[in-house]
Amino acid sequence: MIDAARSNNSARARARMIEHLRKLNIRDEAVLDAMNRIPRHAFVEEALASRAYEDTALPLGFQQTISQPFVVARMLELLAAGGRKLGKTLEVGTGCGYQAAVLSCMASDVYTMERIAKLLDRARTNLRPLKIPNVRLKHGDGNLGLPAAAPFDTIILAAAAPAVPPALREQLAPGGRMVMPLGSTNQVILLVEHSLTGGFKETRLDGVRFVPLLPGTE
Ligand code: SAH
Repeated sequence: MIDAARSNNSARARARMIEHLRKLNIRDEAVLDAMNRIPRHAFVEEALASRAYEDTALPLGFQQTISQPFVVARMLELLAAGGRKLGKTLEVGTGCGYQAAVLSCMASDVYTMERIAKLLDRARTNLRPLKIPNVRLKHGDGNLGLPAAAPFDTIILAAAAPAVPPALREQLAPGGRMVMPLGSTNQVILLVEHSLTGGFKETRLDGVRFVPLLPGTE
C-alpha cells in the first residue's frame, strides 16, 4: 500500500478509536487529543498493524503487551483530572514506547524505564521517526525509580505490583499523583495522591489485567 493511502486509513481508524473511547466515557480532551496524535500502528509489528486501533492489548514479543487503549486513556485521565498538568513524569515499563509517546503530548518531560534492554532499543527505534524532544529512555529496574531525576510530579506504572514500590512513593513530589495496576490475579487501578502537606491518599478503582512488574534487568 502506498504511504499516503496507509496514513489516511490509519487516521480514519484512529478517529474511530477516539469515538469509541468517548462512548466509554473518556471525556478529557487533552487525553483524547494526545491519543489522536500518536500513530499506535507505528508501535506494533507489521503483521498486527491492521489491528492497532482495536481496543485490545496486543503482543509485543518478550511475553509483554502494549496496553489496551481504553486503559491507557483511563489512567491518563486520572492523572490529569481537574485540569492538572502532568509536569515531570516517570513511566515504568516502556514496552514498545506507545504510552511514552502519548505522555509526551501531555507532560513537560517524560522519563521512561524498561528492564528489558532489547525492548528499550525497539522503543527507541519506534520513537525516533516521531522526533519527540521530551522523552528520555532509561534501561533499569523501575522498582527503584530514577533517583537522579526525582522528584516526579507524575508516576505511571505499566506493570502490576502487589504493593506500591517504596522508592516510587519516595520519588513522588508533594502534590504529585501516581497510578499503577495493583495486585496479582485480581488487579485494580490504584491512584496515589501525595498531598502538599505530606500525606498519601490511596484510591482503588477499576479492575484491570497487566503483566507483572518484575525485579532486575535483562
Ligand atoms: N507502556 C507500554 C506497555 C508495556 S507492558 C506500551 O505502551 O507499550 C509492561 C512493560 O513493563 C514490559 O515491557 C515489561 O518488560 C516492563 N517491566 C516489567 N517490570 C519492570 C521493571 N521492574 N522495570 C521496568 N520495566 C518493567
